[in-house]
Amino acid sequence: MKATHLLTACLLSGLLFTVDAWAQGGSQVEPRYMSDVQQLAKHPSVIKAFDLIKAEDPRTVKEHILLTEIEAPPFGEAKRAQQFGQMLKDAGLDSVWIDQEGNVLGLRKGTKRGKVVVLDAHLDTVFPEGTDVTVRSSGDTLFAPGIGDDTRGLAMVLSVVRALNQNKIRTDADILFVGSVGEEGLGDLRGVKYLFSEQGPKIDSWISIDGGDLGRVNNAGLGSYRYKVTFNGPGGHSWGAFGLANPLHALASGIHYFVQEADAWPSRAYAPATTLVVSAVELPSTQSPLKPGLKWICARNTLRCWAKWPLSWITRCTVA
Ligand SMILES: [Zn+2]
Repeated sequence: MKATHLLTACLLSGLLFTVDAWAQGGSQVEPRYMSDVQQLAKHPSVIKAFDLIKAEDPRTVKEHILLTEIEAPPFGEAKRAQQFGQMLKDAGLDSVWIDQEGNVLGLRKGTKRGKVVVLDAHLDTVFPEGTDVTVRSSGDTLFAPGIGDDTRGLAMVLSVVRALNQNKIRTDADILFVGSVGEEGLGDLRGVKYLFSEQGPKIDSWISIDGGDLGRVNNAGLGSYRYKVTFNGPGGHSWGAFGLANPLHALASGIHYFVQEADAWPSRAYAPATTLVVSAVELPSTQSPLKPGLKWICARNTLRCWAKWPLSWITRCTVA
């Protein structure tokens, strides 16, 4: 048995037998990987590991609820990170730590230690601080903000650790189990960006459990640029500041030209695609928008595209 792909097999075989893998960019799953996965899925230890995951479902659900009820807005994941780290320790990893950015990492050493495979879920949810995250159930369904994306992923990471440990499954490669910070909103993938920076650990393969759709395996990522653009100007009052540069007018024109230019790029209907959004406009809370004087207004926008179009080039065309 090739143990190198064991973790991938553990994860994928469950999916491949029940759903079709979905690949981006028209790429196909190579037959050799399919046969590896199918071979591994027949191995007695792997079968036992899956049985354990099923048998331990009530425990996984309990952990899922516990983590969900610790709120974790972007930039406020520390408390949940502590709890998740403790759970990884309890599951029996060789070492667990929190890095400079706030990511939780748990190492399970391989037998050869030549490669490092990451299994990740993100700690943060989209919901702001102060959201009621109490879990309620109705029938067999649990409801709470963030319970799917991505707290379910964290609970799954824990169950995979236990399935491997309790069945004494060894892998050639090291496995890093990760709870990453800042995936949502203005977090802008700060946790994952840190892990792939020079300060991060060596990483050879990355598997992320995210979103609530088991019917899909994504094998490619999108490039994404985010901007916060601030407009300053003395205008704003209809009489007293008439004729002076009005930042709100400039902002509106800016959005208009941005959308006009960016819309010229291929849309989602024709891959490779570019998408864009201006997602938030903020007024200063401390100044009346009608009072003459300095104003600032911010527009946040995001450009995403597949790799064929260089983002920096699009950016020059649309933002300049
Ligand atoms: Zn997510």
